[in-house]
Amino acid sequence: MSKPKAPYRKTEIAGRKLSPETMMMSYGYSPQLSEWSIKAPVFLTSTFAFESAEAGAAFFRVMGGRRQEGDPESAGLMYSRFNNPNIEVLEDRLTLFDHAEDAAVFSSGMGAISTTLMALAPAGSVVLHSTPLYGGTETLIRKVMPNFGIRNVDFFAAAEEAEVWTAAEEAMKLGPVTVIYTETPTNPTNDLVDLAMIRKIANRIGEKQGGKSPAVVVDNTFLGPVNQQPIDLGADILVYSLTKYVGGHSDLIAGAAMGRSDLMAKIRSLRSSIGTNLDPHTAWMLMRSLETVTLRMNAATENAKKVAEYLARHPKVEKVRYLGFLEPGSRSAKIHENQAKAAGSTFSFDVKGGQAGAFKFLNSLQVVKLAVSLGGTETLICHPGSTTHAAVDPELQERCGYTPGMVRISIGIEDPDDLIADIGQALDQV
Ligand SMILES: *Cc1c(COP(=O)(O)O)cnc(C)c1O
Repeated sequence: MSKPKAPYRKTEIAGRKLSPETMMMSYGYSPQLSEWSIKAPVFLTSTFAFESAEAGAAFFRVMGGRRQEGDPESAGLMYSRFNNPNIEVLEDRLTLFDHAEDAAVFSSGMGAISTTLMALAPAGSVVLHSTPLYGGTETLIRKVMPNFGIRNVDFFAAAEEAEVWTAAEEAMKLGPVTVIYTETPTNPTNDLVDLAMIRKIANRIGEKQGGKSPAVVVDNTFLGPVNQQPIDLGADILVYSLTKYVGGHSDLIAGAAMGRSDLMAKIRSLRSSIGTNLDPHTAWMLMRSLETVTLRMNAATENAKKVAEYLARHPKVEKVRYLGFLEPGSRSAKIHENQAKAAGSTFSFDVKGGQAGAFKFLNSLQVVKLAVSLGGTETLICHPGSTTHAAVDPELQERCGYTPGMVRISIGIEDPDDLIADIGQALDQV
């Protein structure tokens, strides 16, 4: 096939830099290569034909890091566990919002997180991490990775620099610190990790480790890619559950890692080895989702503000942990202002009457759906204490401010007044 004439990685027009919202409809895909189809077809194929035996050999040399003179810059299409057109276009588009050098997609958020951590933290090394993290990630770091000789030290998400440095010193006593892993805001209490401070800590550890700084990895699922871009604050790698806001319709499971290309090469190579890759059909669905991610996230953010304000005034509700309600001038408000563009649409609040009150409220809802997960077009609510966070040890629950009546809500894009009407009638039952 001839080379595409149209520049299909266009990033500017008439001296103006194109926005990600514009590029989501075109970047990385050439209609000319697919019968001029406006949308990328789904490439349902396991393998790809080589033009010649020599071309096949060159692709495998490039992928295996044995590039010779005259070989292509990057390996062409070979086998769908390594690469596939839908995967490649999706990965190219994902880099744009977050200003990442490279991206790789995975079969789930946990696939992205486990592959990233295993690629960056070898046996004998230490992962320094904030807590609380997504439940699956806590289990991976605290219970699974030690079986592979990777140790961990934690610090509380909202900790200030001195406390984090104490944890860092403790970690360095156990072995080389190869990764600092954080998630901000935390789920479900919306505590914030100061990402600029974490970059400083990573650099300080690097000085103590003979120039070997740990990779700063940030789970950006809650506010990214529209409302928070941690690479701009010094993160090396971002991980995502694309299942949530990016997918956005509660109809798929997927994940991504993105960031520095030297680190991404290791992550991508491990993905090829252990097979945590994404399938082409889900990749195609995610390209469709990316076209509306800004519209959806903005609408959900607006709705969440209205619902949070309603809840804050309601006599049967306490402690609305919504990022829009941070005390002006407080440390957390300053961090939020520095690293995020909006409050997002997932937050928690307490229903009076403890777990019994919360359960009565949840059972009375008729529009809002009772389910775990978040970031979809529909509003979802759950009781973390008995579901997603049931396994968290009681001491940590206490430290993180979990309470028996706490529910977590992820606001969707319905009419916010309908949501308020439903929540109001359900609270009346409590
Ligand atoms: C859901 C979630 C994950 C895990 O993603 P899956 O796609 O379910 O594997 C990781 N981190 C955060 C913050 C999440 O919300």
